[in-house]
Amino acid sequence: MDIPYAEPYKIKMIEPIRLSSKEERLQWIKEAKYNLFNLRSEQVYIDLLTDSGTGSMSQNQWSQLMLGDESYAGATSYYKLKSAVNEITGFHYFLPTHQGRAAENVLFSVLVKEGDVVPGNTHFDTTKGHIEFRRALPVDCTIDEAKNTHNNHPFKGNIDIAKLKKAVAEHGVDKIPMIILTLTNNSAGGQPVSMENIKAVSEVAKENGIMLLIDGARYAENAYFIKNREAGYSEKTIAEIVKETFSYADAMTMSSKKDGYVNMGGFIAMHSQEIFEKASMFNIMYEGYITYGGMSGRDMNALAAGLYEGINYETLDARIKQVAYLGAQLDDYGIPVQHPYGGHAIFVNANEFLTHVPREEYIAQTLAIELYIEAGVRAVEIGTLLADRDPDSRENRYPAIEFVRLTIPRRTYTNNHMDVVAAALKNIFDRRETITSGYEIVKEAPILRHFTVELKKK
Ligand SMILES: *Cc1c(COP(=O)(O)O)cnc(C)c1O
Repeated sequence: MDIPYAEPYKIKMIEPIRLSSKEERLQWIKEAKYNLFNLRSEQVYIDLLTDSGTGSMSQNQWSQLMLGDESYAGATSYYKLKSAVNEITGFHYFLPTHQGRAAENVLFSVLVKEGDVVPGNTHFDTTKGHIEFRRALPVDCTIDEAKNTHNNHPFKGNIDIAKLKKAVAEHGVDKIPMIILTLTNNSAGGQPVSMENIKAVSEVAKENGIMLLIDGARYAENAYFIKNREAGYSEKTIAEIVKETFSYADAMTMSSKKDGYVNMGGFIAMHSQEIFEKASMFNIMYEGYITYGGMSGRDMNALAAGLYEGINYETLDARIKQVAYLGAQLDDYGIPVQHPYGGHAIFVNANEFLTHVPREEYIAQTLAIELYIEAGVRAVEIGTLLADRDPDSRENRYPAIEFVRLTIPRRTYTNNHMDVVAAALKNIFDRRETITSGYEIVKEAPILRHFTVELKKK
């Protein structure tokens, strides 16, 4: 018999989480105006809202906190982190920031101006926000296979090279300050990008003299998929694959709250001294001096350790197999999910799940609320609420697929918790025919409405 996989760690400290009754949850979600962001964490049993900064640190990371150097300039913690970033990514220049979107803000302040066009695979919301805020245009060149949840393409995060070349020809190189590759493609379901595709994108960038930026939030998970799915990489280590990945790029932005295995942090890294010097100025204005950039010394120490843990094969293997463990159970129950399973989350296809709820009544949000009421599990809507309204017509933008994302924090929950999530969804699936109405909006913000929207039952 094959020895099953298990986590390459044991639990040393526990954080109690609170069970609740259905009656309590019905009351709480009503008080939260049917917005899961408004719930208090004590009202949630299993929290799958996001994997961003919600993971557990190791004993090594906790011990590093005690060694933090809080000097304003030139702290040992800064040099420890810089050396980890240099060694892992191969980039020489490095700027710490307080989180990923801050890295985008600093770097785009140097590179993006009004009227520019920024092609890539699906831009993450904050990346898109920082481009659009500067009156520039993000262009999504992701392959069409990503839109079909039943298609088993191994690298659904890939850029369609023909679409990319078309965007370059259409807008002209002068209007394109960079191409962005997001690893993994979060918005398409945590889907990876192949090394072949990274190479091909970098060739298009080089031929046209355009910079290639990697949004590397989940670069280690991407490397894991390359090792396991792409010909020629099975014998390479994650560290080697990561190094090769970044060798094709000119710069990277990072949300350390993901594959950095910390609760807060981010950075920018690059080859160009000129861009580094310009970005340093914005870093000082927005984040802090260049040797801390919004991070405390102890946090930089924990991140330096977390970056190494993040490229450990066994750690990645346990994480990604836990995501697949949940995905396989949902498949067994006949629940429609995005295939292949993503690196950090399972995406439930709410359109195929709740076929009787009209799209005007927020199908994915309706399912996410049902899941909370059923078992105290908090997921997140990646659907019409998130897609927002068209800026001109103010009509709802209905995405091709409404997803409920079950995002798994790193090293945090056990497979028993996954069993609870799967059973709760199965119960809802068994009675899906009886769910025929959703919600209507009572109050919403003009942009990023999903965070604060207030709803009532239809
Ligand atoms: C989370 C994330 C960001 C933004 O990072 P924050 O740390 O949340 O500011 C950018 N890109 C991707 C792909 C992300 O997942």
